Order: sequence, then structure tokens, then C-alpha cells
Amino acid sequence: MRCHYCLNRVVGKPNIVILKGIGPAHYQCYENNRVHSRVFGDLDLQTLNDDALNELKEMVLSECNSRKLMTEEEAVELFS
Ligand SMILES: [Zn+2]
Repeated sequence: MRCHYCLNRVVGKPNIVILKGIGPAHYQCYENNRVHSRVFGDLDLQTLNDDALNELKEMVLSECNSRKLMTEEEAVELFS
């Protein structure tokens, strides 16, 4: 079996991770890829098309605004 990233053998090597739905990888290769990639949880942002990425962006901004509003409302209640 070979590392998903560097394609070198993983059998008999220490520090191997198994990537769900992908296969084995050296831990160091996995970490190097994770640092340089745009992955959040199981979501690889680079796989999204422009429409999906913009939809996700709007959802994140909406959630941030919602939380900000709640904080401001709580502050108003505290001082009124
Ligand atoms: Zn590797």
C-alpha cells in the first residue's frame, strides 16, 4: 500500500494514518497537506464550485451576524 500524498510505501513505516474513504498516508505527509490545503472538517473547500463556495460564505457570514446580534441584544438587556 502507498501513501496517498507521496506515493511511497507505507507498509512497515511508523506513524501511518488511514484517511476515511481514501486510504493510508504517512502522518507527516498528511500534516504537510493539511497545513497547505483548505480543508475544514471533512469539507475540502477546493472541491466546491463557485456557487457552492459563495453559498457557504453567505451561510458563514449570516451565522457570524446572528451571533453578533445576539451578543449586542444581550448587552442591551444587561444595561437597560
Ligand atoms: Zn507520504
